[in-house]
Amino acid sequence: MSEKQPPSPEPFRRASRLANLGVSEILRIGARAGEMQRAGKPVIVLGAGEPDFDTPDTIKEAAIAAIRAGDTKYTALDGTPALKAAICAKFRRDNGLDFTPAEITVAAGAKQVIYNALMASLEPGDEVVIPTPFWTTYSAMVEIAGGIPVLVPCTGENGFRMTAEQLQAAISPKTRWLMLNSPSNPSGAAYRAADYRPLLDVLLDAPHVWLMSDEIYEHIVYDGFTFVTPVAIEPRIRSRCLIVNGVSKAYAMTGWRIGYGAGPASLIGAMAVVQSQSTSNPASISQAAAVEALNGPQDEVVARAADFKARRDFVVAALNAIEGIECRVPEGAFYTFASCAGLIGATTPDGKVIESDRDVCAYLLEAGLVATVPGAAFGLSPYFRISYATAMAELEEAMRRIAAACRKLTLA
Ligand code: PMP
Repeated sequence: MSEKQPPSPEPFRRASRLANLGVSEILRIGARAGEMQRAGKPVIVLGAGEPDFDTPDTIKEAAIAAIRAGDTKYTALDGTPALKAAICAKFRRDNGLDFTPAEITVAAGAKQVIYNALMASLEPGDEVVIPTPFWTTYSAMVEIAGGIPVLVPCTGENGFRMTAEQLQAAISPKTRWLMLNSPSNPSGAAYRAADYRPLLDVLLDAPHVWLMSDEIYEHIVYDGFTFVTPVAIEPRIRSRCLIVNGVSKAYAMTGWRIGYGAGPASLIGAMAVVQSQSTSNPASISQAAAVEALNGPQDEVVARAADFKARRDFVVAALNAIEGIECRVPEGAFYTFASCAGLIGATTPDGKVIESDRDVCAYLLEAGLVATVPGAAFGLSPYFRISYATAMAELEEAMRRIAAACRKLTLA
């Protein structure tokens, strides 16, 4: 044995591309709620972004049949021919759009579709325009891919929708993408054709900017709202638009990890390169299940939207009955994004002053035993998000607790 000691190992160094990034605030709040639950406190968590009902049986059966049939091997890189055909049929049926399989990609969730697109397109310093409030992952992914998120605050006064003037002002020669999400996580706001039109006109005059349209909540809309994709409104945008969608939300399949994208074959091909050198194909069994979800009966999708509507109506009314909180009626998704401006400056029973939406959510968690997520996590304050994809009885108890906790505050 040599006398000489080898040099001591260097501590782990994080790559600089992670400099501004941490694990998501939603996960951190969930972890804190979990800790409290383990300590015997009956916390109700209204933080999760997933439907509370189970994947329909017909879809599960399709997965079981796929396993039995030996559908257990690598598949075509970015989606089986059967799933791409089902996705093309979905776009024809739901959106009136004709895509060929070469214009379709399938990945492990809509999340990976977005990641592949950004990795395939961004050069260091390229800008991506993101209206706030936004799904936090957008800006994080832009940063990982070397781009610069350009955040544009879109407040409740304009229904959390971006205006043409805002878009115009945000675009620079370095802009590569505009990321839109309708219906939105976290605001629940959705764009009507008339809301899209002025934005599309701006984009027609800015031919270097591509549009990423995240339509994952397409089927969760209320009060007869007609979902429309910008590509159907303005066919001239199609040659630079990526539609992002998936089965997670519509079919309660968050754990199966199947998302898909539709766009120009040039972009889809570049995204396949990213996927090829990272994860390869999404799970073969999940793809078989997604074929059944898209081709099979669609009645559960509609039934669930009706369930969600009853919960939305209840939560919005309960929030608006609380002094200091104001909530607009969201058109879709399963979130409310209420203003808590009226609670800022309030004093808690133990003498603390509430200074931000983070403080509001911390108070609701500690004193009210309800976990919600501050608007700051989505880039817009002072708001807080409630996910109402939770059983009605639990929502009723949660809203009782939130109201009681707010009554104990001394408002400024
Ligand atoms: N887009 C939005 C706006 C979302 O809220 C989510 C899930 N929280 C996703 C994309 C990703 O969904 P998945 O990866 O499960 O398909």
